[in-house]
Amino acid sequence: MIKYALGCAEGHRFDSWFPDSDAYEKQRKRGLVACPECGDIRVEKAIMAPAVVGGERGAVETPAEVLTDDRRRHARDMIVRLRREIEANTDDVGARFPEVARAIHQGDEPERAIRGRASLKEAKALIEDGVGVLPMPALADELN
Ligand SMILES: [Zn+2]
Repeated sequence: MIKYALGCAEGHRFDSWFPDSDAYEKQRKRGLVACPECGDIRVEKAIMAPAVVGGERGAVETPAEVLTDDRRRHARDMIVRLRREIEANTDDVGARFPEVARAIHQGDEPERAIRGRASLKEAKALIEDGVGVLPMPALADELN
């Protein structure tokens, strides 16, 4: 199972579980992934890394081609704000993220929200072990 932070075209954010990333893509293309608030099926996910533990956070990462300039600016502003908020409220553990996240989960380290880098494989392993991992919102131009 994989948990995605999703967002609809109206800007609502929600989390959803999928068996794997292929299942997510298939369900989304068939219009089966809808926003719980407004029912919008124009849904996009944020990328998996770097990841954040703790807190209810996620963001919309929307393909540039379907957005007007205004919406792109708006989405970008939202992501920048969200990232600032995450950075202000989490402890940066960098490449030690998977190790520290697991230690917090097992109670070996004080409970707190952390952020850092994890590969997709590491993030998946953490989720399988029941550790809460959320993607850090990325700006569209950083994904290339
Ligand atoms: Zn919505």
